[in-house]
Amino acid sequence: MSTLIADTDDVTRFCAVFSDVGLAHDVAPTLGCRETEALAGILRALGEPAAADLWLDAHATSDELGDQHYMPAPEPYIVPIDPMEDLQCDSCQ
Ligand SMILES: [Zn+2]
Repeated sequence: MSTLIADTDDVTRFCAVFSDVGLAHDVAPTLGCRETEALAGILRALGEPAAADLWLDAHATSDELGDQHYMPAPEPYIVPIDPMEDLQCDSCQ
């Protein structure tokens, strides 16, 4: 197996195609962790770290607890309640 990349047009086309947000969001969730890491690795090696992160983030949305890229849903933000409002005390405000 050759590790030499001879045709820069192919590299440029590959990077352009796989930097597409829509493609990443459509395909990455269907890939396994290993496949996504491999794709992200080649994108990083070709100088496209943002595209690599895009694929990993898009993929992570489909990972489940125990999977490599699983990210739990963030806790909903709860607006703190001011206890002084319940007292309806004007002097405290
Ligand atoms: Zn994963």
